[in-house]
Amino acid sequence: MKITILGSGSAYGVPMAFNVWGAANPANPQNKRSRASILLEENGKSILIDAGPDFRYQINDNNVQNIDSVFITHGHYDHIAGIPELPRATKTLGHGIKIYASAETMAELKQSYGYLFKEKADAEPDSQSLKWCILPDSGRFTTEGLEFETLLFQHHHIHSSGFRYQNFAYVTDWETLPEKCETFFSGLDLLIIECNNADTPEINGHSDIFKIKEVMARFSPKRMVLSHISRRMDAEEYAKTLPDGIELSYDGMILHV
Ligand SMILES: [Zn+2]
Ligand SMILES: [Zn+2]
Repeated sequence: MKITILGSGSAYGVPMAFNVWGAANPANPQNKRSRASILLEENGKSILIDAGPDFRYQINDNNVQNIDSVFITHGHYDHIAGIPELPRATKTLGHGIKIYASAETMAELKQSYGYLFKEKADAEPDSQSLKWCILPDSGRFTTEGLEFETLLFQHHHIHSSGFRYQNFAYVTDWETLPEKCETFFSGLDLLIIECNNADTPEINGHSDIFKIKEVMARFSPKRMVLSHISRRMDAEEYAKTLPDGIELSYDGMILHV
């Protein structure tokens, strides 16, 4: 499988509006981070995980040719603001797109984008080409002939769905590990995981480097790639502080598993 990091950044991106770069050196292109999203390609099928406010640029900059299904991790704007662009995208692609979300997230989507869920008579143009599919809170599901595993993670007052496919897993916007997560995390070759808070633990629904090291000690994934990263991390300087097996992602990074 091929994974492309379309966006490696935290909710407000790096730099934030008004050129707020924080510790990130503006001269290093790897510090320019759009909102967190990945593309997984396998057996000729393309799965997008999250469609945030940078969706259009990410699809174009990475020359993405197709999307079959979209998995939405949770209802925060940095993960869903690109969804209203999907109806038009179905017209360009010439086929429908399935959108998967947990029951909790789907309710959130209906509230944010009720007009996309309308019945035929007053539906928005092309919105009927979107097929909304409810994910289980945990367990297996199949799309495009590919079998995934999903698991809900606590994320401040809501929950975020993590996804595993074979020996790869993607977990973004998480605060604590669910009680039963051994099957989800065991035997991974690659784990892409949110580390929003870097070295500053905060109670804000996110992870930090201390939680990341706990995950590494407990489950020993072969390779951990940090995502949803903020202005607190410089691509070069922060990378020097990371132990073997943990690295920073960047926009456009391609990983093969
Ligand atoms: Zn987020
Ligand atoms: Zn979030």
